[in-house]
Amino acid sequence: MPVAELEALMMNLGEPRWRGRQLAEAMYCQRVTEMDAFTTLPKSVRGRLAESGWGVGRPEIVSVFKSADGTERYLVRGNDDQTVETVWMPEGDGGEAGDGSEVEVEGNSILPSSLLSEPVRKDGAPARIEDEAPTRVADRAPTRSWDRATICVSSQVGCAVNCRFCLTAKLGLQRNLTAGEIAGQVVAVLDRHGAEVGRDRVNLVFMGMGEPFLNYDHFMAAVRLLVEEVGISPLRMTVSTSGIVPGIERFAQEPDSVRPKLAISLNAPNDALREEVMPINRKWPIDAVVDAVRKVPLRPRERVTFEYVLLGGLTDRPEQAAEVAQLVRRAGLPAKVNLIAWNPGPGIEYFMPSFESVERFRCRLAGEGVPVFLRRPRGRDIYAACGQLKRTLKA
Ligand code: SAH
Ligand code: SF4
Repeated sequence: MPVAELEALMMNLGEPRWRGRQLAEAMYCQRVTEMDAFTTLPKSVRGRLAESGWGVGRPEIVSVFKSADGTERYLVRGNDDQTVETVWMPEGDGGEAGDGSEVEVEGNSILPSSLLSEPVRKDGAPARIEDEAPTRVADRAPTRSWDRATICVSSQVGCAVNCRFCLTAKLGLQRNLTAGEIAGQVVAVLDRHGAEVGRDRVNLVFMGMGEPFLNYDHFMAAVRLLVEEVGISPLRMTVSTSGIVPGIERFAQEPDSVRPKLAISLNAPNDALREEVMPINRKWPIDAVVDAVRKVPLRPRERVTFEYVLLGGLTDRPEQAAEVAQLVRRAGLPAKVNLIAWNPGPGIEYFMPSFESVERFRCRLAGEGVPVFLRRPRGRDIYAACGQLKRTLKA
């Protein structure tokens, strides 16, 4: 609940308005997880809150899948029994590089080919699965072995957009998440890792299940909670959209103080191919998306990210890189391109790009003067990488 609602709740109980702010601080800053820990609140008020059915808590992390690369994928229970996925990536995936956040060192570094190889399964052993009882997270925070981390957050259960290369699309749209369920994923994962906002470098990417701009109000309410109450800077957050034009236009109206950075899933060099892999392109073709993006005011040094999934033999040819470069130049925006080698999933008939084709594509874009970065595939062995989130119950 945002502060205004907590204030109203307190006033309904005949308490002063400032009690609402006090509650917000206890829940979001001190991160208390039970009503009895609200020691500043008179016991009688706590009792009345509990009697009227109010509770304090986190979405439960019901399963944890651990990758050989340190990534963790969680199934997080929503307000009903549906689960969504949240991913913890210690050291990030390189996706934040070059978009204006101060935390990154810029540079078109070449990643070792091992990072683009098949999932790592040492000795052929399956990745570890840890089915955990939904206990309170503070009891089992893993020992700290990270300097910075990225949390990938879901905005819907499933997705209605139906991109042909994405496993989440196979679920269809089950429902929207509430603001509490979206922000709650972040807080539950921060708790699990004992992360402290302000001390630790934690970035958020709204790139999990779902299309954030098709759940706009709840998504933005969650961002406001995370900025204003949890204390995470919007410059440490990136939202990715498949190009929902009315959503981008609303986003352009948001004040700098709560507007995350923007990433657009371009994924093809022209409308014909984009339409093939992303049917939504028929509704909002590339030019319409770019026109909407131009309306988003950018902060100094901020850049828009164009994500580009490389589909082997289909969208990974060097001449297509030249087309992308032209498109980015024509957009006339401070922009960069994030390349993502396609991650495979059952029942999806595309091919992974070869390491050589990824490198050729990257070099061609860089040669055309377009800032380009390669996103490290994280947690492929546990179905945690981009486009693999489908509540898969095995590793
Ligand atoms: N729905 C939003 C955000 C979630 S998807 C969007 O589509 O932008 C995050 C990114 O993963 C998108 O850029 C998407 O194009 C990419 N993606 C989807 N499926 C993928 C796959 N199988 N392999 C690699 N990237 C994928
Ligand atoms: Fe939805 Fe994004 Fe997957 Fe497309 S890529 S189906 S928009 S989650």
